[in-house]
Amino acid sequence: MKLFDSVAYVKGVGPKRAELLKKLGVETVYDLLYFFPRTYIDYTSPTAISQTALDEQNVIKCRICSKLPPAHIRKGMTIYKAFATDDESDITVILYNNEYLFKSLEVGGEYIMYGKVTGNLTRREISSPLIISEKSDDKIQPVYHLTDGISQTVIRKAVKNALLMFDSFCFEPLSKEILSDYGICALRYALENIHFPRDMNELNTAKKRLVFEEFLILQLGMQILRKRNRQLTGCKMTYKSIESYYKSLPFELTNAQKSAISDCLSDMTRDVPMNRLVQGDVGSGKTAVAAACCYFAHLNGRQSALMAPTEILAAQHYSTLANFLSPLGVNVCLLTGSLTPKQKKEIKEKIKSGYYSVIVGTHALVVSSTNFESLGLVIIDEQHRFGVKQRAGLAQKGDNPHILVMSATPIPRTLALMIYGDLDISVLNELPKGRQKIDTYAVTGKLRKRAYGFIKERLDEGRQAYIVCPAIDETESGLLAANSYAEKIAAEDFHEYRIGILNGKMPSSQKDEIMARFKEHQLDVLVSTTVIEVGIDVPNAAVMLIENADRFGLSQLHQLRGRVGRGSFKSYCILVTDNVSEESKKRLKILSSTSDGFKISEEDLKLRGPGDFFGSKQHGLPQLKIASMAENMEELRSAQQCAEKIISADPNLLLSKHAQLKLLAKRLFQKSADNAMN
Ligand code: ADP
Ligand code: MG
Repeated sequence: MKLFDSVAYVKGVGPKRAELLKKLGVETVYDLLYFFPRTYIDYTSPTAISQTALDEQNVIKCRICSKLPPAHIRKGMTIYKAFATDDESDITVILYNNEYLFKSLEVGGEYIMYGKVTGNLTRREISSPLIISEKSDDKIQPVYHLTDGISQTVIRKAVKNALLMFDSFCFEPLSKEILSDYGICALRYALENIHFPRDMNELNTAKKRLVFEEFLILQLGMQILRKRNRQLTGCKMTYKSIESYYKSLPFELTNAQKSAISDCLSDMTRDVPMNRLVQGDVGSGKTAVAAACCYFAHLNGRQSALMAPTEILAAQHYSTLANFLSPLGVNVCLLTGSLTPKQKKEIKEKIKSGYYSVIVGTHALVVSSTNFESLGLVIIDEQHRFGVKQRAGLAQKGDNPHILVMSATPIPRTLALMIYGDLDISVLNELPKGRQKIDTYAVTGKLRKRAYGFIKERLDEGRQAYIVCPAIDETESGLLAANSYAEKIAAEDFHEYRIGILNGKMPSSQKDEIMARFKEHQLDVLVSTTVIEVGIDVPNAAVMLIENADRFGLSQLHQLRGRVGRGSFKSYCILVTDNVSEESKKRLKILSSTSDGFKISEEDLKLRGPGDFFGSKQHGLPQLKIASMAENMEELRSAQQCAEKIISADPNLLLSKHAQLKLLAKRLFQKSADNAMN
């Protein structure tokens, strides 16, 4: 038997169970060994019976004093009772229909039990407990996810049998140097102890190793992907001056924009396709960078496609790009779902004939309309809805076009490497000159009326406002909810203004419609959950009020705040919170003192961990089995450092000591590519 053989060969599994295990994602012996417990039952520190918490799960140690005859309650229901003691207090053990377990209990025998304790201070019962002998060696028991037909015992036994074979697999992807440099244990030890630890220390040692390994393999996998994306020659371009583009712009580009453009142009003149991320804070001018690239592609006789996550963003990009590029003789079109079939057909024909050089549309539309005359550049706006897999998919399309990804979420380098490891990164760390700072204030609920007064003054000056609530309806307790909030202010404080509601549960056509009405100033106030599009541009909106502000991550608040201050009007952001703890104050102070998104995200990472960056599961990475980006930052950093070392010493992982790592890294993305196709 080999490590990557079917799990059916493991003693105690067989073909039938192997078929069931598939449902749990376990197909090979390797998968079984890496099928980690979802939790553990810890029998190592029992509670005295007199100290057990009533109506909760407890672990107790007791001796069986006597067993009662079974009581047949009704057809198919038999109750077994035994009396037990820990020499201080007594307890009744109750089993339902479990004759086998009951018979195995010996009077006078010592047992450890895990189950719910009920009763009162003088009479206690434990019902349907899990029971092990006091003498058992497995005092910490793994608990696995199950599927019909597969019990805990089946998995435990199968894992034990696989571990018995482990030495014959000769498998240890990490070299001795790595083990000692990073202070981690060998794989054999880790696997044994992740499944059957004898104490918590062993478990933690095992976990540390497996987390490190998982991150390391992910990082290496990204590197391999990055190479693979670059193997094929794409639409190699030649250098052409885009001076006329610079001249036609109504403003001077920032140095950051210029250098990002020059990164992109030089990428596009290489033999391998560009794979670049332009990361820039809200308002840093990413679209102008994208337009420069489109123009460059146009001069090279190539088409560009710009894909946005929603129709409304697509429409916005279209108007910006058309503004920038039409004067230079570049034909730009917008491809959206709301066009009539006839219009779509016409536009698609003109795309196919090469009349349009720049095609703007939603992800779905652009991807499904593959008939370009000569697609050379794909631009993806708002990164995290478009994962690694889809990027890899695009790269395989047609001529292997250049890919430019634009993201408005400034994220710290550690995390950027993690999610965008397959991309080169340009950072727009500078805002265009003359941008106004958004005045940001944190207030408590007591000042809400005053804040409303302030907002109304802005509305009376002709501006518009956003109000953000953390929840949609009242079910999320204690949080202000957008729907009822909107009704309330529409009836009271803001009755003479036009109020709109936006939430994530609305169908996207309805969301688009509301956004469009707000954009056209048919609404004065938009009450919304956090769904207000990143990247939406309503220059007339000059004030935002955020309720329960302490509920949001700093980066998220910063993103939200970026919806205002996009025009020439002085803009304001009011953070309302009744949380007056020092930590909350400190956090909100960071926001009012800086408008640098990168700085804010670093602080956020320090204060809250990376959870906020990954809350939405939209990064498109393969699912992690044991590592958590929110909890294992330290391991993430050391694994990254280790990956960098490995890659710089052995870029193609050709050394034999890296063979097993390479295998795992390749397998990781192979698997996720397969899943993506299902
Ligand atoms: P984001 O990076 O958030 O997508 P946009 O590309 O939407 O930013 O740009 C925001 C606004 O700033 C747009 O109106 C754009 O025309 C303008 N802009 C872009 N670059 C500059 C610049 N260098 N100087 C002045 N205004 C700029
Ligand atoms: Mg944008």
